Amino acid sequence: MHRSSPSLRGVSRMSVCYFSGCACAVLLLSRNHTPEIVWVLAANFAFLLCYILMHLAILDFFGKASHVSLLSGVLVAVDLGFCSYSIAQGGKGYLRIVLISILISIQLAQTLLALNKELRTNMRTPVLGYMVVLSVVTVGYLVRAGLALAIGSADGIVGNGILQVLAILTLIFSIVGSAFAFIWMTTTRLHLELEHLASTDPLTKSLNRRAIQTQFRRELELAGRNGSPLSLITLDIDHFKAINDQHGHVAGDVVLRTVVGELQEHSRTTDILGRMGGEEFLILLPASNREEAAAVAERLRAALAKLRIMHGDKIISVTASLGVTEVSARHAGWEECWEDSLRRGDTALYAAKQSGRNCVFSLEEGPAFEHIKEAASASSREKSPGTSAVPLLINLEVEG
Ligand code: GH3
Ligand code: MG
Ligand code: MG
Repeated sequence: MHRSSPSLRGVSRMSVCYFSGCACAVLLLSRNHTPEIVWVLAANFAFLLCYILMHLAILDFFGKASHVSLLSGVLVAVDLGFCSYSIAQGGKGYLRIVLISILISIQLAQTLLALNKELRTNMRTPVLGYMVVLSVVTVGYLVRAGLALAIGSADGIVGNGILQVLAILTLIFSIVGSAFAFIWMTTTRLHLELEHLASTDPLTKSLNRRAIQTQFRRELELAGRNGSPLSLITLDIDHFKAINDQHGHVAGDVVLRTVVGELQEHSRTTDILGRMGGEEFLILLPASNREEAAAVAERLRAALAKLRIMHGDKIISVTASLGVTEVSARHAGWEECWEDSLRRGDTALYAAKQSGRNCVFSLEEGPAFEHIKEAASASSREKSPGTSAVPLLINLEVEG
């Protein structure tokens, strides 16, 4: 996993955690051939280390600072200190089982708290799954500690009886459950990353055409259910080719990114911005009729016209032409509606371009596009030469 997706963090640590668990099992099996002080200390350390590494892997996975906490350090010190003392005194083994079970429960509680902080992210379900697994394991260890105390014998994992069964069940569930939960988290993370890549324009980080289409479909359904209007704005930067030609392609890219930042800053939180391609953008305006959308478009136009973009020692200014249209609900399918809305948005945009650019054209509902073109050329004829920079908000009235 780590090799194929290096962006996935915490995976290597999680695998070391399982190796640490294996080391603990090997040490337990070698107990008849190794001095007690060696196998007890090493096995207890490997056992606790396993859960500390799991904690660090989780922190790493969520991009948190992943260093060993003071609490984990104290747990290791108490574990090793008590085991050394117990062996030196020839003490009873079951007390060591009680202690290690409690120490691991405390370490698991620390991990549960860390996971709890991630519950509000889009990883909620797999995180919840991991929390359930760790909670069951914690309960298993606490019950084991309680039973060891009650029985007062050392037959935990090395003898026969209920303690051994409980220890093995807790271990198996701990290994299998946490592995499944971690794989669930990683696949969810990869899925979310892929979804993000597939829906984001790499240059401007706004939604791409595919994603804005998906959003359109969703907003259309919502608007239909709530009986609320839905409008869209098509926006095209004016004479963008000239910016590229004059200042270079890199400057053009900077302009595109800055324009997107400006559009995001001046649109409402509910508005959805996407890049349709090149220097063309589309903004969806849920719960907005044509007049409201036209007011937003005019605000965006004015904001862009005021923009001064620094690139090296040059200052670049831009303007944009915008078309506004209200989505018509008279279509049978959403695709038909999407195509019709785009067509009408483009028609309004075309009218704005024809009219001298740096203006907003708003289009009334209706299929007669020829009328719009006529109206657009009529309005541009009425304008005196050299007034293309004057803010314009023109409603194209078309018979339905
Ligand atoms: P108009 O006012 O009529 O819209 O003219 P325009 O020059 O803006 O439009 P035109 O379609 O002639 O040119 C668009 C240019 O946008 C051409 C293309 O090279 C440039 N372009 C498209 N995508 C990118 C991009 O990602 N980065 C840069 N720098 N330029 C791009
Ligand atoms: Mg353009
Ligand atoms: Mg264009």
